[in-house]
Amino acid sequence: MNIAFIAHDQKKDNIVQFVTAYEEVLKEHTLYSTGTTGTRIMESTSLKVNRFQSGPLGGDQQIGAKIAENEMDCVIFFKDPLTAQPHEPDISALIRLCDVYSIPLATNMATAEILLRGLERGDFQWREVVKEQRKEEGK
Ligand code: PGA
Repeated sequence: MNIAFIAHDQKKDNIVQFVTAYEEVLKEHTLYSTGTTGTRIMESTSLKVNRFQSGPLGGDQQIGAKIAENEMDCVIFFKDPLTAQPHEPDISALIRLCDVYSIPLATNMATAEILLRGLERGDFQWREVVKEQRKEEGK
C-alpha cells in the first residue's frame, strides 16, 4: 500500500514515535511524506520515505494529487489543532480529497493506531479492488 505521512511541527516528535513503533509493519509498504516529516522519519528509523515538498510549500497538494490519481491508499496526518497554519487551504483540500475518494485518513495518533492495525490484518485489500476497477474504467 502507498501510505502518506504528514505532521505539523508540534506533532513531529509524535509521528517519529509512531512510525518507530510500527516500523516492522511499515517497511512492507511504500511510504510518502511532506518534506520535513520525511526527513525526521528517515533520521530516526531505517524506513525509506519518498519526500514531497514541505507542507507550506506545496507538499499537501502533491499528496492530494496522488489521491486524485488513485495512487494513495492511506493518509496519516498528525495535525496540530492549536496552531494556525499558513497553508490551511491546502490542508482542507487534502482532507476533502480523502473524503471525495474514500481514502482512510487519520488526523491523530489514536485513529492512526487503529488504521495501522487494520493494515496489519489485511483490511486494506479492498483498495486493490478499487484501483483495479478505476484502471479498467481508465480513470
Ligand atoms: P513538513 O510539512 O513535513 O515539511 O513540515 C508538514 C506541514 O506542516 O504541513
